[in-house]
Amino acid sequence: MSGADVKLVLRSTRVVTPGGTRPAAVAVADGRIDAVLPYDTGVPAGARLEDFGDDVLLPGLVDTHVHVNDPGRTEWEGFFTATRAAAAGGITTLLDMPLNSLPPTTTVDHLRTKQQVAAPKAHIDTGFWGGAIPSNVKDLRPLYEAGVFGFKCFLSPSGVEEFPELDQEQLARSMAEIAGFGGLLIVHAEDPSHLASAPQRSGPAYADFLASRPRDAENTAIEGLIAHAGRLNARVHVLHLSSSDALPMIAAAKREGVRITVESCPHFLTLTAEEVPDGATEFKCCPPIRETANQDTLWEGLADGTIDCIVSDHSPCTTDLKTPDFASAWGGISSLQLGLPAVWTEARKRGHSLDDVARWMSAAPAELAGLTRKGAIEAGRDADFAVLAPDDTFTVDPAELFHRNQVTAYAGRTLYGVVKSTWLRGERIAADGTVAGPTGRLLERNQ
Ligand SMILES: [Zn+2]
Repeated sequence: MSGADVKLVLRSTRVVTPGGTRPAAVAVADGRIDAVLPYDTGVPAGARLEDFGDDVLLPGLVDTHVHVNDPGRTEWEGFFTATRAAAAGGITTLLDMPLNSLPPTTTVDHLRTKQQVAAPKAHIDTGFWGGAIPSNVKDLRPLYEAGVFGFKCFLSPSGVEEFPELDQEQLARSMAEIAGFGGLLIVHAEDPSHLASAPQRSGPAYADFLASRPRDAENTAIEGLIAHAGRLNARVHVLHLSSSDALPMIAAAKREGVRITVESCPHFLTLTAEEVPDGATEFKCCPPIRETANQDTLWEGLADGTIDCIVSDHSPCTTDLKTPDFASAWGGISSLQLGLPAVWTEARKRGHSLDDVARWMSAAPAELAGLTRKGAIEAGRDADFAVLAPDDTFTVDPAELFHRNQVTAYAGRTLYGVVKSTWLRGERIAADGTVAGPTGRLLERNQ
């Protein structure tokens, strides 16, 4: 041990570390991991031992894609409810998306407004993405210096008028500006012309909605993004990949040194188009949930590293906006509290381990955002943990979710993996379905 004042030791027969899962004792001092020690190391005098038996000690999850919508659309969600749900689900760090709140995070003033709103409500550590819209190229560098982790843009309409998309020329301009100060551009990649030429049919049939958001829209947008990123040597990240057709070109771009990373989401990896009932718009999101064969290929992309991480894209709304018409219902899936068990249930079925899940849902998103204190159980990192009973199951009852609106595509599903407790900087913030008051901190880039 470092000689620091160890007050807490967490012990489990299954501690998920960057070097694999093993029995270990994790010594915590001042909210940080002081050392990862052999399982039977003696507990220092004055320190408390928490023994989790065979429950798995995971690094706290890092969810870099959450729409909190606060302030402005707090009837949809909010920092208090979102971060409480996250804590209950084993997430200890969240990055908020710049849109669907009013104001959107497109200027430093707007960022400060959001930080003020979030500070007293955050149950977990919380940071912010900025937004890149046609009118704010001059705001990008000041926002970066003010602590945003990077910038989100759309290439097709976002669904809210205060956050317009970028055309190809605007994309190149914003990307060049961001690359100029070493920033990261994260992109909702669907090409607007493919969306415009796809058949648009309203009604309750999921097949009609799926046809309105074709894979080609994603593929074309990603192809263009790769070209821009390669030419500008810019760092880009593809948000919520659904089309598995894009994987070969992404893999090729990575091999050629293009600085591109990719995320997918629990709903693309665990739900399929074939099973969406008519009118069930709690399954609507853009890009859409696709067919089973597509999902199988996405899992191959995860296994071979083409897809870097899994994040929720939690994008809730009020129940009344989830009308049974797929064309007009609000698009977005709520899963913040359920991402870990949803992904684990499918991952275990496909032969993956919790080491894989921890890499996809903690280490990789932390690395994406440059959160060097988060994402792993190793000395020097924050003492953020999720304690999971991986073989226990539960059936999703929306009434037990802490999301403000208890609409979820996972209702009634039986999932593996019960989060027994969540720890933030050495403090237990959630246990057995109850969450303590807000003690999260606001994070800024490079903090
Ligand atoms: Zn999103």
